[in-house]
Amino acid sequence: MSFWRMPLDAEEQGVTVGEVHIIAYRCKGCRYCIEFCPNNVLAESEEFNEKGYHPPYAAKDGKCVNCNFCETICPEFAIFVTEGKPGNLQPADVLHDVKPGRRLQRKRRYGE
Ligand code: SF4
Ligand code: SF4
Repeated sequence: MSFWRMPLDAEEQGVTVGEVHIIAYRCKGCRYCIEFCPNNVLAESEEFNEKGYHPPYAAKDGKCVNCNFCETICPEFAIFVTEGKPGNLQPADVLHDVKPGRRLQRKRRYGE
């Protein structure tokens, strides 16, 4: 994934952290949340729910960026996200191939 433009101060900003909650008995194992999570936070658990499906779980705890996409896409309202404790996630942790913003480049180059 590459981004052709970023806010100039992106490297100076923290990233919001989400806490994932699964309502396991509602899950029908469609995997939408797992497939479409932009940060690959979710994975299929080994456990079975009452319907015989494997509900997801947050495999990469602390990497959820609270985008609410899983919550929006789940057809069974079986997953939701609340704001987690502020962590130390930085843009570089979730956007791995982003080049530093121009302001940061100038700061590094010219010490401004
Ligand atoms: S809120 Fe976004 S980053 Fe967090 S688990 Fe859901 S889709 Fe992934
Ligand atoms: S999108 Fe909802 S129903 Fe589908 S696997 Fe995820 S939690 Fe289960």
